[in-house]
Amino acid sequence: AAGLRAANDARSQGDVAPNDLEAWWLPFTANRAFKRNPRMIARAKDMHYYTPDGRAVLDGVAGLWCCNAGHNRASIVAAIQAQAAELDFSPAFQFGHAGGFTLASRLAAMAPGDLDHAFFCNSGSEAVDTALKIALAYWNVRGEGGRTRLIGRERGYHGVGFGGISVGGIVTNRKFFGTLLAGVDHLPHTYSREHQAFTMGEPDWGAHLADDLERIVTLHDASTIAAVIVEPMAGSTGVLPPPKGYLQRLRQICDRHGILLIFDEVICGFGRLGHAFAAERYGVVPDMITFAKAVNSGTVPMGGVLVSSRIYDAFMKGPERTIELFHGYTYSAHPLACAAALATLDVYRDEDLFGRAKRLEPVFAEALMSLRGLPNVLDIRTLGLVGAIDLASRPDAAGARAFEAMDRAFQDLGLMIRITGETIAVTPPLIISEDQIGELVDKLGRVIRAVA
Ligand code: PMP
Repeated sequence: AAGLRAANDARSQGDVAPNDLEAWWLPFTANRAFKRNPRMIARAKDMHYYTPDGRAVLDGVAGLWCCNAGHNRASIVAAIQAQAAELDFSPAFQFGHAGGFTLASRLAAMAPGDLDHAFFCNSGSEAVDTALKIALAYWNVRGEGGRTRLIGRERGYHGVGFGGISVGGIVTNRKFFGTLLAGVDHLPHTYSREHQAFTMGEPDWGAHLADDLERIVTLHDASTIAAVIVEPMAGSTGVLPPPKGYLQRLRQICDRHGILLIFDEVICGFGRLGHAFAAERYGVVPDMITFAKAVNSGTVPMGGVLVSSRIYDAFMKGPERTIELFHGYTYSAHPLACAAALATLDVYRDEDLFGRAKRLEPVFAEALMSLRGLPNVLDIRTLGLVGAIDLASRPDAAGARAFEAMDRAFQDLGLMIRITGETIAVTPPLIISEDQIGELVDKLGRVIRAVA
């Protein structure tokens, strides 16, 4: 630490000394490879990132499925600046501010069914753990405290909290971290290359996989099960669109047994699939929706849970207690995050960005499918403004081909993509033009050939 202090004194802000590279342990990153060859970003505007030496990089991933309105939009920047100068922080424990109430109300108006109440936190992971805790507490206040079991899905991603990795089903995110939550079961994932390869939109095959929930109910009895949580479209596992009818069937089975259904919409929400929420696209009303990321276009950390009136009322009606739910975060409904979200929702509405995503969906899907037949391309999946390309693994190193594609796309072609395992995912800001879709797919084709 003393060495770092001396180095800090000696340099101006903006420089990155070799010592700094070791000081930051990057999340979900191959740190040693990164530090040999750092991929650095200095600024961003609209559809582009810019490197410190001024190179433009087309943002093919909206940051990290976050910046749906594009980068550094003037009205959002101005709202954050004005809020910082007006009310920098306000505790949400026993005190409120107008931004939190206005935002909750606007989100509730966008949500389907009776999801009329919002609980705020600061990330997708916190949103998931909040939703799971609300589900458990709900059954307690309802006098059915025996409903403690939680059900997730293989290959599901629900963030990195202990609740989230317990219901999550990505093995590498679970296996180093001890025993996790007890009483969790997993539905089967919904992907089959044999039955679904090169499908645009929802695959025809796979709705029956929801019936596995009946098996779990038979095994444990419905009276022990609190909630089921799924991503309407699984994202981080490599983009798995839901089979036609699958989510509707899950809802029916949950209803039959009184089990709560939670949609984790951390990446599906705010226009990614052409609607405010995926729940709307599928005509399914879950009991809770988790959101984060694009709620304020990724500008200030924020997450939250939209909660049905049935759940909210269970806490708010009946005998009054000192505190209804012993849960919350110092930064819940942070004024800057709320101001950013309100300005972002205005941009989404004024520019009809969800409608734009819907109109662009077939253009985007056709463009990506043109990569079929390139070397090593095993499958391409598309849904809304989301695309995924599975590459064949190199026999010597699993994941190495996609990693090289990501690195070369950034360093050589000026394109940011995301990888998970051997899957490339693209999820551009919703402001992308048809020309830019062409550019994105052209660069993807070039990089796929380059790593062949
Ligand atoms: N749930 C889903 C479906 C996600 O995709 C993510 C993040 N990619 C999370 C939860 C976790 O969000 P965060 O990284 O903000 O904690």
